[in-house]
Amino acid sequence: MSLRELCRWLEIPYRRDMDAGFCNLKTRQVEARCGLRPRVFDFPCRMLRVGSALRTVRPALWSERGRSRYRFCPKCFEDQHTPYLPVHWRFDPWRLCFKHRCMMEDACWKCHMPILLPEKMEQGGADGKGITFMSQCFHCSELLWRVAPIYVDQLAPLVLSPLQEVQLQNGCAFVSAIAHGYMTNLLGRAVRIAKELPLMERMQLLASGDSLSPNAIRQRELLEEEGWQDC
Ligand SMILES: [Zn+2]
Ligand SMILES: [Zn+2]
Repeated sequence: MSLRELCRWLEIPYRRDMDAGFCNLKTRQVEARCGLRPRVFDFPCRMLRVGSALRTVRPALWSERGRSRYRFCPKCFEDQHTPYLPVHWRFDPWRLCFKHRCMMEDACWKCHMPILLPEKMEQGGADGKGITFMSQCFHCSELLWRVAPIYVDQLAPLVLSPLQEVQLQNGCAFVSAIAHGYMTNLLGRAVRIAKELPLMERMQLLASGDSLSPNAIRQRELLEEEGWQDC
């Protein structure tokens, strides 16, 4: 069954960014057709709905042609019984896996292609004969989790700037804020995220774009290690 056929069967529109379309649908109907428990989509849909309504912060990742783009945690991928891409991996400020304390990767370690959806798994891979798991690269078939993770607590001193360390921590606060629809300010008061998140963004307290790129961090760590050896 193709993705278009699946969409027809579920009565949902086919579009390049399936996440964005999905969050405005009658999810009860989709849950029932898939045999899933009711309300299972509530949490990810709310995150996408709240995130896409923010005016200044553009939280989700897209390819240049408007497809959904994801980062991934190699250790989470390795742990998952059936590999999948959790919705919060799509949010730009989310750069640190809080479970494994490693940085999110933004491309295949072997061919450097980004992780984009939707993708035809049955036609993916280096030979076009398909891939089996979502944790494989759609282009070269390599297992994405075979990259050596960057554990932030093991980085050499000075590899991350103080601002970058703050940005890493704020990724979790950001996702939590859009999941709950509010956040707590320094005075301990609940405030509306539509007002607070753009302020955080203007103060560069949220990672965005190529800042905190895993490969840039790897290169900086290499330089720092060489610097220590020269001393
Ligand atoms: Zn993880
Ligand atoms: Zn690859």
